[in-house]
Amino acid sequence: MKKVLIANRGEIALRIVRACRELGLGSVAVYSDADALATHVREADEAVRLGPAPSAESYLRGELIIAAAKAVGADAIHPGYGFLAEREWFARAVRDAELTWVGPPAEAIAAMGSKTAARSLAIAHDVPVVPGTTEPLRSAEEAAGIADRFGYPVLLKAAAGGGGKGMRVVRDASAMASSLEAAQRESRNAFGDDAVYVEKYIEGPRHVEIQVLADRHGRCVSLGERECSVQRRHQKMIEEAPSPAVNADLRRAMGAAAVRVAKAAGYQNAGTCEFLLAPDSQFYFLEMNTRIQVEHPVTEAVTGIDLVQWQLRIAAGERLPFTSNIDPRGWAMECRITSEDAAHGFLPSAGRIEYMRIPAGPGVRWDSGVGAGSEVTLHYDPMLAKLIVWAPTRAEAIARMHRALDELTIHGLETSREFHLRVMEDDEFQRGAIDIQWLERRLESLVGAPAPRELVEAAAIAAALFAERDRRQRAPGMTGAATGSAAEGTLPEHQPWARLARQQGLRDA
Ligand code: ADP
Repeated sequence: MKKVLIANRGEIALRIVRACRELGLGSVAVYSDADALATHVREADEAVRLGPAPSAESYLRGELIIAAAKAVGADAIHPGYGFLAEREWFARAVRDAELTWVGPPAEAIAAMGSKTAARSLAIAHDVPVVPGTTEPLRSAEEAAGIADRFGYPVLLKAAAGGGGKGMRVVRDASAMASSLEAAQRESRNAFGDDAVYVEKYIEGPRHVEIQVLADRHGRCVSLGERECSVQRRHQKMIEEAPSPAVNADLRRAMGAAAVRVAKAAGYQNAGTCEFLLAPDSQFYFLEMNTRIQVEHPVTEAVTGIDLVQWQLRIAAGERLPFTSNIDPRGWAMECRITSEDAAHGFLPSAGRIEYMRIPAGPGVRWDSGVGAGSEVTLHYDPMLAKLIVWAPTRAEAIARMHRALDELTIHGLETSREFHLRVMEDDEFQRGAIDIQWLERRLESLVGAPAPRELVEAAAIAAALFAERDRRQRAPGMTGAATGSAAEGTLPEHQPWARLARQQGLRDA
């Protein structure tokens, strides 16, 4: 392997460029018209244009990507996450084109692509799954009969599901028919398949996942867990390793279960087994993600193992030199910095990044695909960057994350930075008392938290100076209506002080 084409964009594309460079491999970026000036394009050794901005016309065009690899003489393709990473047909097409696929075999992707097939595989290998069925439901009566056996509430799930689509919680028999119909319709629309099955709805579980690495010579190891319970609408927002709820015995048991699933699927390369961990410490296998995960850096931080380098080394045929018994060292945490306005329902924000100060200092890692001057569009995922910290203990990791978030400054669009600051200050989060519903329960008090007094004062002073300058610049004799006034509407859109001033009603200051 000499030259790797990276079929992705943003922070993960840059992450892979860096791994290639450290291993002495060439790197080739691909890009859409919206990304012609993007960081991943500038940082890679070479770059190939795919097409217009929409993903369907660029990053999802597998045949163009394979042709690009051939044209520049790349001998491997790394898919990153999202886009084509878990498409069996693409893994197959790459192999058929005699290129190295930096990922699991197409057969393993297929084996894990259906939730019901993955459940059956887990059951056959003695890995606990949430009680429920593995066959598609035929009728609401059948579903109600099964729910009576397990007890309500139950969860209807699309077999082909992903991203939380086609899921419905059913709390009693009267809601079964309409919920089943809704889940089937959603699944048909999203995945072209209306197979829906039923499982017991677990109350108050954590989302804990196990990272595995498997080489091409039969060795498969677990690298421990990640706690990903801080979720909004099934989207992870903050991840950490280890989990506050996992001790060495549980880690070993979950790790062994993950390795059994991976081996049963004929897995190779990096993968993740997702589990629900119930309050009584019983764990249930949910599904396997057959790719590198967004949150992989927290595992890298506590194990010292470079997962993306190992993806490339495994694909090139190297043997894994370590075993499963790696104890996590210290504590790592990741905040996903997105272009979303948490105070307004996480509304996506687009625009040009006018200014950016990147956090640094001890134990801080910044993985990002954007910088000052970058245009952020609504075409792609809103994640701008990942801020990762490491410290000896969880409390110190939280303090360090707070300090790093404090240093982070992004002007030009709304970001989730302040939301993350409030989470780091939250006493339940600090105690580790989190489950997958925690954020939804806590959201209102988190995003509604009052701004610190000194910030409000600074915003008031800035608004007053702005109003005064505006008054002086106004030509004598002209009316406010003709020139605009210093009232609310004319405060500059993108300045954080102006936003705060508007929120606090300080325009008359
Ligand atoms: P998807 O592939 O659509 O993301 P998952 O099976 O991974 O679906 O489930 C998504 C999320 O839904 C999980 O992370 C968890 O928060 C919640 N969830 C899934 N199954 C259950 C269950 N049986 N009980 C309670 N919550 C569940």
